[in-house]
Amino acid sequence: MVGKLAKYLRMAGYDVLYINTASDDQIIKKAGESDRIVLTRDSLMLARREFKKGIIKYLFIKDDKLKNQLNQIESDLKVLLKPNLVRCIECNRKLIKVKKEDVKNKVPPHVYKTQQNFLYCKKCDKYYWRGTHYDNIRNTFLSIK
Ligand SMILES: [Zn+2]
Repeated sequence: MVGKLAKYLRMAGYDVLYINTASDDQIIKKAGESDRIVLTRDSLMLARREFKKGIIKYLFIKDDKLKNQLNQIESDLKVLLKPNLVRCIECNRKLIKVKKEDVKNKVPPHVYKTQQNFLYCKKCDKYYWRGTHYDNIRNTFLSIK
């Protein structure tokens, strides 16, 4: 229910675990192990003892719309969202810097020509750079202010 939100938070550099198929038990276990805040639209799950007693931190996401969700995150968690390309948007892994010459045949020619800095996710075999997509992300974050 918050898959898109998870991606945007990763785009802002936050360490976000997203498991679409996880059961409530699995989510609670994971959150407890790694001291994470559970972001959820599922009010039924929040009736669980672990949340009621404050054992697991959580934030109930009030809205379906991404912009409103991002807005709520900023105000409720007191964070400022801005693009910070450090994590893989797909898998949450930390990206590693790669040399420009190493990506020559791995990225589109116009990207190679115009970009200087490249990052790489080992797990997804995916390259990242601050191109148009990055600007779109920045605009989304700016638009929630
Ligand atoms: Zn990845």
